[in-house]
Amino acid sequence: MATSMLRTPLRKPKQKRKTDYQVGPTPKDVFSLSSPEPLGPPARTLSEIERLELLIANPYLYEVAGTIFPSRMPGAPGRRPTYPPFIYLILLASISIFNTAEMACANFQHPYMWKTVREGVRQQLGNVAADELPEVGPQRHHWQDFRPKMLDALQELRQASRDAWVRQAIAQGLLERKRRGTLVRPHRSQVITGDGTVVRPASDQTDEFTIDEMTGELKRHRVDPDASIQVEGGDREIYGNKLVSFSVRNESSPHSRVILNMDTARHQSVALDPDRHEEARVALRLALEIRARAPGAHCVVYDRAWRGVHRAQLIRSGFLVYTRQYDGLKPHPLKKYRYETTGCTHDVYAATGRACERLITVEGKILYDPIPVRQVEYRLGEESRFYHLLEIPCRNGAHMERIPVYETQEDRLPDPRTKRIRFNRTEHLRIIPPGTGAGDRLSGFRQDSESGFSTLDETHRLRRIPAYGADGALLIYIGYAWAKNSVALSIDRRTR
Ligand SMILES: [Zn+2]
Repeated sequence: MATSMLRTPLRKPKQKRKTDYQVGPTPKDVFSLSSPEPLGPPARTLSEIERLELLIANPYLYEVAGTIFPSRMPGAPGRRPTYPPFIYLILLASISIFNTAEMACANFQHPYMWKTVREGVRQQLGNVAADELPEVGPQRHHWQDFRPKMLDALQELRQASRDAWVRQAIAQGLLERKRRGTLVRPHRSQVITGDGTVVRPASDQTDEFTIDEMTGELKRHRVDPDASIQVEGGDREIYGNKLVSFSVRNESSPHSRVILNMDTARHQSVALDPDRHEEARVALRLALEIRARAPGAHCVVYDRAWRGVHRAQLIRSGFLVYTRQYDGLKPHPLKKYRYETTGCTHDVYAATGRACERLITVEGKILYDPIPVRQVEYRLGEESRFYHLLEIPCRNGAHMERIPVYETQEDRLPDPRTKRIRFNRTEHLRIIPPGTGAGDRLSGFRQDSESGFSTLDETHRLRRIPAYGADGALLIYIGYAWAKNSVALSIDRRTR
């Protein structure tokens, strides 16, 4: 290939349109993976009763209920509520097992189901707590009375649940502190994947009042106060609320996924929802919350919503970040290398997320030729630093050069002209470049987590969340995560 082009780079590149340059093929280097990820057996379908049993057998659930509502737990002084808070947390999680709160309560009214719940409580908390439970399970009005209390304590519930889920994951052998695998091929159990999704509220009604055209009668409807129309996957319009979540799973182990953290993200204009942050910022916060509790979360994968500014912060905290490349980026000059002994120069740019040599083809076209990376290096200091060891091909013999792929202190200095940071390095250079075997492997992990998310939609009738408002949606999803994580916990115990 080197013979078909001139190895003399241009001195002063002109601003060219995107179509005016070509990008060379992805070279064989450290990011080329030979063996694909082993495929595990398919996940066994679990019955509703089995999922309920696993939920009740989850010790973390009782702990979290006691943390959020200590005064309502058995043994607390004062008037005792009819049902202790852990029953409501079980009920909340059961909504995703039985599709609606109504159906969950109907199941709890059945003597066999309620006996199952009481026996589960006996196993976890002992005879006193189990015998104190009423003879019949909670009804719809009990849930309707308690639900606002859960919504009032939503952030506490989210945080206590997150802390319990992260501890569960570590107890399951996920997010192990010692690095397994390599930097380029991190072990599946140490990669957290995140996703933002729009969940539909109980109805798509956007007008509070409508007039019946036949009768002229004014009709009032329930309208979700937070939902709005958003574009998902480029062109699909979806009405609903936005949730962001992160999870981790083991390789080739079905039902091992543990949801680690979640929150709502702003889904409408800042003016309409000034308190919530946009998806990318929420996802950044959630990932950092996980890493603060689990330093074994070595790698994080998200979608294009994360840009250089987000990646720089994550890398600083020690994360190896992978996201696919944002399309609208122009190649950016990195460094012109001059070698005295051989008298050659190499003009290195950042393009398609990696270092490329800028060359001119025999047709006179600009070509950015990806430079093979021989090694990815990690150094832990006050801030984490990652480097690429480049092998710049040359007729005089290859040149080895080390370039930072994290935002350096120098990059961060403000440019006197623009007043902005000098070089948004993490926007242009990626630790694992997209379009490589190593990158595709990590992308695959995220697609897998997307299907985990769609299970949430599928779980509920008509792919809707049985709740109104962003907080209502988050509450339902916290319950869903408890049900799902309880399955992961029990499967792990059985296989040990
Ligand atoms: Zn050279």
